[in-house]
Amino acid sequence: MKRKQEAHSAVGIDLGTTYSCVAVWQEEHSRVEIIHNDQGNRTTPSFVAFTENQRLIGDAAKNQASANPQNTVFDVKRLIGRKFSDPTVQDDILLWPFKVVSGVDDRPMIIVKYKDQEKQLYAEEVSSMVLTKMREIAEKYLESPVKNAVVTVPAYFNDAQRKATIDAGVIAGLNVMRVMNEPTAAAIAYGLDKRTGCVGERNILVFDLGGGTFDVSILSIKDSVFQVKATAGNTHLGGEDFDNRMVNYFVQEFKRKNKVDISGNSGALTRLRKNKGEISGKYSKALRRLRTVCERAKRSLSFLLTATIEIDSLFQGIDFSSSINRAKFEEMNMDLFNECMKIVESCLMDAKMDKSMIDDVVLVGGSSRIPKVQQLLQDFFNGKELCMSINPDEAVAYGAAVQAALLSQDVKNVPKLVLQDVTPLSLGISIVGDIMSVVIPRNTRIPVKNTQQYFTVEDNQSYSLIKIYEGERTRASDNSWLGSFTLSGHTPAPRGHTYDVCFSIDENGILTVSATESSTGKTSKITITNHRDRLSSEEIKKLIQEAEDYQLEDKKFLRNAKALNDLDDYIYKMRNALKKKDINLKLSSQEIETIKSTVAVITKLVDENNQEVEIDVMEDHLNGLKITMEDILPKTI
Ligand code: ADP
Ligand code: MG
Repeated sequence: MKRKQEAHSAVGIDLGTTYSCVAVWQEEHSRVEIIHNDQGNRTTPSFVAFTENQRLIGDAAKNQASANPQNTVFDVKRLIGRKFSDPTVQDDILLWPFKVVSGVDDRPMIIVKYKDQEKQLYAEEVSSMVLTKMREIAEKYLESPVKNAVVTVPAYFNDAQRKATIDAGVIAGLNVMRVMNEPTAAAIAYGLDKRTGCVGERNILVFDLGGGTFDVSILSIKDSVFQVKATAGNTHLGGEDFDNRMVNYFVQEFKRKNKVDISGNSGALTRLRKNKGEISGKYSKALRRLRTVCERAKRSLSFLLTATIEIDSLFQGIDFSSSINRAKFEEMNMDLFNECMKIVESCLMDAKMDKSMIDDVVLVGGSSRIPKVQQLLQDFFNGKELCMSINPDEAVAYGAAVQAALLSQDVKNVPKLVLQDVTPLSLGISIVGDIMSVVIPRNTRIPVKNTQQYFTVEDNQSYSLIKIYEGERTRASDNSWLGSFTLSGHTPAPRGHTYDVCFSIDENGILTVSATESSTGKTSKITITNHRDRLSSEEIKKLIQEAEDYQLEDKKFLRNAKALNDLDDYIYKMRNALKKKDINLKLSSQEIETIKSTVAVITKLVDENNQEVEIDVMEDHLNGLKITMEDILPKTI
């Protein structure tokens, strides 16, 4: 059901680690529509792949991953806004089949081969490609250009990660109206901010079990203000782990039945994606194929009690078919499911709440579709009804779409609500003795502006170094450093001379810090754009240009493929015509000669690697062919 909307609809995009989703508020029907992609799927893999002749994004990229592991990039959300030397980045790199190296300023660079050339990509750039895909999906559905978007991020994302996400949007040609916390978006999808019947605050627990990550957040809503009370999670617990368990199970079964071990080596399965020589090509290919089928089987086990799998020639020409039931699947993952419940408990402890204080439990993430997970969670909350009427892998995009509509002035029917987010972490500066002096405490509503007065510590101090940190630790250097700047030109004075430091955070959680010398009014400031993890505006400009180039190349590739296909089609028709017994009666000998020579020319053209031939030349041939054959071919029918 397509619906042409007025131009410039604002969309909501859930840019996920493994899958992304885009949604739009439909003014006409006063509801949110989740937009399906060209494959008819409502979520799109956050995958980008590069080949000898094209770039692929989404399902097309994921589908060819097993054949092209080194050049298929995924999981970039784990890299965005981080440094190469970050220990979590170092750990993740070990699991990825694609290469990541350290670039300028300790920035992680993803290395791929595209059209036989090595390319170095920023995480922002890869994310922007996924966002571009999501934008195109929305544009196709809405039949109009899409510019404005609300993009969601995990609640624990810090300043650098949020800014890098905005940059990815800019490179994708989007105006990111707001970056929004994923759990907040999910709560909005359920309209929990508007529910009454609760005295004062309403506490919500968002349980987000996705493809590779598990996040629990406890939010409280009071007067439409959302506060993140606590977050907890495991960055490596999710759908992929359940897939791996099933892969393991079937590898054992294959071994039992056929006396062949397809895993290559015994420890390979837990490091399935590791492809640095430990698992040779043939093993990893079989495992990847098995894994794809297992993911499908896992999904169907959420609805059915048994699932069958079938793979032709899985390994050494041996076909494999088998089945698995829900009980077995649950048994093999029970420890992981229990781990999820432990994390829920620890999140409640962090928030200093008893489970009875939770008013709503919201299910988010594709893996929360698993019935056992739902049951464990419901039991934990003593039989409480869970919020699960919205598809869990769509709830975040759903809420983002509502928020996008709220931010667009021309939308009237969307239920009014004033949404406010809060700072996820405390922000402050370091003072004498490496002490963290908090200027904006965590959970402060944004936008916000706070000013604090500080004193010089030495006589005739001529400047002050302002070092900005984010975090909850008492010692400033234990927190994460966001940037520094100098306020110079203090008037000569004994120690204790005052200056003001002002922190201001805009709607997107972007921080600007300024310092003003009290006696002279002289000011210095920093918007944390020169942050070590942030791209400069020149770099972004360059990347926007590159993104456009990529798109042109993609289009050219499609044009090329179409021309080739059409030419191929003509050869087929012409050859068939020549094969007809009565061809001599239908065509003159000159016409037959024309067909023969054309077949020869076109065959050569098509066979001679299409890369060499300019697309215009090919299309010219095609047009010429159409004219020549227009009269001849119909006569042969
Ligand atoms: P992300 O973690 O990137 O935000 P999603 O929330 O969309 O992504 O979760 C993706 C995960 O959900 C994948 O591992 C997928 O296999 C899993 N999943 C999707 N549908 C189902 C289902 N019906 N049953 C079990 N798992 C599912
Ligand atoms: Mg998600």
